[in-house]
Amino acid sequence: MTGKDTAHARLCIRDPIPDIFEAYYLLSAATDAHKHGQFRAAETLFAKANMPTVYDWAWADWQKPSLNIRIPKPENDTIKIPKAELDPVRAPSRTTKRAVLDRDGYRCRYCGIPVIDADIRKLVHKLYPEAVPWVSNAPEKQHAAFSCFWLQYDHVVPHSHGGRSDEENVVVSCALCNFGKLDYTVKQLDIADPRERPPASAPWDGLERLRGCN
Ligand SMILES: [Zn+2]
Repeated sequence: MTGKDTAHARLCIRDPIPDIFEAYYLLSAATDAHKHGQFRAAETLFAKANMPTVYDWAWADWQKPSLNIRIPKPENDTIKIPKAELDPVRAPSRTTKRAVLDRDGYRCRYCGIPVIDADIRKLVHKLYPEAVPWVSNAPEKQHAAFSCFWLQYDHVVPHSHGGRSDEENVVVSCALCNFGKLDYTVKQLDIADPRERPPASAPWDGLERLRGCN
């Protein structure tokens, strides 16, 4: 971490717990089993990765201030700006997403946990619907690990505060770090600006080796 402003700031909304990495290890083992044609083993491993502790980390109380969630201090930074002054494009372009992913890898720039593209989750849900449940907009009915590792492209300066949808302002993020920021800036949440530290090399491939499998 660099810069005096961020010397004492935390890196993320909520510190990761070891179970998160255990869940990713299980997903990775499930992926290997699937690729080797061991479908029952894959299904068991995918189901095992659906860990309640991971659900709790990602979703329990994330909208409520609690000991582990950052309590926003709106007075510490910018406010929302008029709509006419916003970047007209909120969602980063495909080219920007590609560049951001190439730079950051399959790892949240805030908390450092693995992330997985929604395409891969959709594929696995289709292959193993019982082991990998998924109901839109209902985290409690989603596979906890795929939900937690859902790859997001986060505007570090919120779009609503005038943040651009470009490579300088967008980083790879997990679901909690993206949704948990709401419309606040990192200063308002007292977390370090992830752009002030280089992306850590990601030992994970986001299970991309499953792409194209059936
Ligand atoms: Zn994160």
